[in-house]
Amino acid sequence: MTHRVAVLVPTPAHSKLGGPLTYLSEQPLAPGTLVRVPLGKREVLGLVWDQADTALASDEMIAAKLIAEVLQDIPPMSKHWRQLVTFSASYYQRSLGEVALAGLPPQLRDLSATQLARRLKRADGMQEQSDTCAQGLPLTMQQQEALAAYESNPGPFLLFGTTGSGKTEIYLQAVQALLARDARAQALVMVPEINLTPQLQDRFIARFGQDKVTTMNSAMTPAQRLKGWLAAHTGQARIVLGTRMAVFASLPHLKLIVVDEEHDPSYKQQEGARYSARDLAVLRGKLEGAKVLLGSATPSLESWQASEKGRYQRLHMAARVGQGKLPAVRLVDMNLQPRQTVFSPQLLQAIGQRIERGEQSLIFLNRRGYAPVLACTACDWKSECPHCSAFRVFHKIDRTLRCHHCGYTERVPRACPTCGNVDIAPVGRGTERLEEHLSELLADVKQANGEPVRIARMDADSTRFKGALQEQLARMHAGEVDVLVGTQMVTKGHDFRRITLVAAINADSALFSSDFRAPERLFGLLMQAAGRAGRDSAQADASEMWVQTWHPRHPLFDALRRHDYPAFAQQQLVQREQAGMPPFGFQALLRAEARTQEAAQSFLRAAAQAASQLPDAAHVTVYSAVPMGIQRVANVERAQMLIESPSRTALQRFLSQWQPVLRATQEKGLIRWAVDVDPLVI
Ligand code: ADP
Ligand code: ZN
Ligand code: ZN
Repeated sequence: MTHRVAVLVPTPAHSKLGGPLTYLSEQPLAPGTLVRVPLGKREVLGLVWDQADTALASDEMIAAKLIAEVLQDIPPMSKHWRQLVTFSASYYQRSLGEVALAGLPPQLRDLSATQLARRLKRADGMQEQSDTCAQGLPLTMQQQEALAAYESNPGPFLLFGTTGSGKTEIYLQAVQALLARDARAQALVMVPEINLTPQLQDRFIARFGQDKVTTMNSAMTPAQRLKGWLAAHTGQARIVLGTRMAVFASLPHLKLIVVDEEHDPSYKQQEGARYSARDLAVLRGKLEGAKVLLGSATPSLESWQASEKGRYQRLHMAARVGQGKLPAVRLVDMNLQPRQTVFSPQLLQAIGQRIERGEQSLIFLNRRGYAPVLACTACDWKSECPHCSAFRVFHKIDRTLRCHHCGYTERVPRACPTCGNVDIAPVGRGTERLEEHLSELLADVKQANGEPVRIARMDADSTRFKGALQEQLARMHAGEVDVLVGTQMVTKGHDFRRITLVAAINADSALFSSDFRAPERLFGLLMQAAGRAGRDSAQADASEMWVQTWHPRHPLFDALRRHDYPAFAQQQLVQREQAGMPPFGFQALLRAEARTQEAAQSFLRAAAQAASQLPDAAHVTVYSAVPMGIQRVANVERAQMLIESPSRTALQRFLSQWQPVLRATQEKGLIRWAVDVDPLVI
């Protein structure tokens, strides 16, 4: 008998074929089964979505094609996983096929059933798991209290713990208790950055042994990804560590999801289905009956508000492990410094003292709006990108000008392309110039042994090559560096032991940004940076966080001085509530790309006009179309339109009603468009 099956295939985001397609099969196939099916001229990976066992009409028999191959050695995707896909596609306004297939490792698409069976067998051979003497640290009082509250309540939990309060130990012991209690249970632990996975991986492997832990991130090779995915999917890997993509990992016995640094913007996918892995983690926990533990020293205001209202249970760890104190905050009023001052004399002196005492300092540059652009000193030429409305950035290391948006790269010209002047120089200040400038200023300072100062730099450039980051971190940990200069990157997660001074340069740009989340990010960044200092309790008393600012009386700095995140959150939430901004209101962006700005905006205007006829139009506000911040990228013009509603449900209903209208509107022009639900950057 021939069966009719509904199969999801990788479809373009907004195609009308977003749902499953009908195929024929000689055997009944369970939902979740992976198959290979013909699609046009290709054969693609598909996922059986539903089985419709009704008798076939004869014309259907003719139209529908046979499934080419069933990957029957791979267990079907679970019902919970399919529910997660259904929710994500609908919530983030994408097709089911796109979301489902993007959640699978790419190599599944290319390997035949036989090749896969071989991979599975190999994974099977490694199954005997050693039981490693997982030994946790004796917990501090507040860790014990947090863990006890976690164990005896359903959650979701917001672990609000100061940097260095021992959140990671809580994650480790929550996982440990789970694995001890349940012989099959699996845990998913997410971190925001690939750079942070090796550290965490080391700690988990040391505790649980190599064979129980697998990682998932986009830096892995396709073969590694498939291997890790199979280990999780078959239940062998008990712990999956990964970045945002891991939220779609197949974990048949998932019982715990940890989201470390839950406030971090990199949990939001910025292309394709623009999902928030943090938000999906909470939803997935609910679907699967798994506990969810979100951790941060500076939670997102969304999560903070949820914990204020009792939707999340807050676990508070206010003190650092081992009596270590948080650094004293020193504000330098830049209004009192000569113009053009980069490092105030007070700050230089404090750095000098650290060097003489053999302690380390960390200087970080808030890079936003501060990339080194080349300019001509004679005319007004600047290193604009010919294809984008953005300046190309000067990279000294290979003397190129590079567009950070489209990637267009050229060698630095010998002379100004407009007037021929040979004196072209960087404006603004990158980390490289900061490092140079600092080494000039510290030329006379010596280490205790009389040797010159050792300054190192860590940013996206200096860590471009494989292993460079690890090497630089190792030098820092070994005390071979006195002053480390870097971008935000240096502030995240690292457990440096000898830093007693952290300084933020150019923190102010975020105070008056058009992005309403900029102060929240700045506060998080500064607290995170402060958390790098004084981690060794012996030196904690002397540790300091320096901020040079033109606005020393800004309430943000007041809260920072007291390390008072709740006070800061309170200030912000009052403002957000008055303005109906998240978490009190809900937002979506409609983005459009076209050859001209006019075409992009007229698409948005037509969409807005049609929107007014939709049933839920009364519950949303559709704002005017505007050019995006970076209006032109690679010769494509970009525009966007904000949609707001006090009700998440109404916004969701409105967006689904809008989809067919947007497709119809698109057909009239050469437009690419996308909806971004809960956008992080507006
Ligand atoms: P957080 O993630 O909150 O910033 P960590 O988990 O990295 O903090 O802990 C900070 C430091 O304290 C680490 O070096 C960790 O090994 C140590 N630590 C954590 N818990 C304990 C404990 N109970 N006893 C001793 N040291 C601990
Ligand atoms: Zn010129
Ligand atoms: Zn460009």
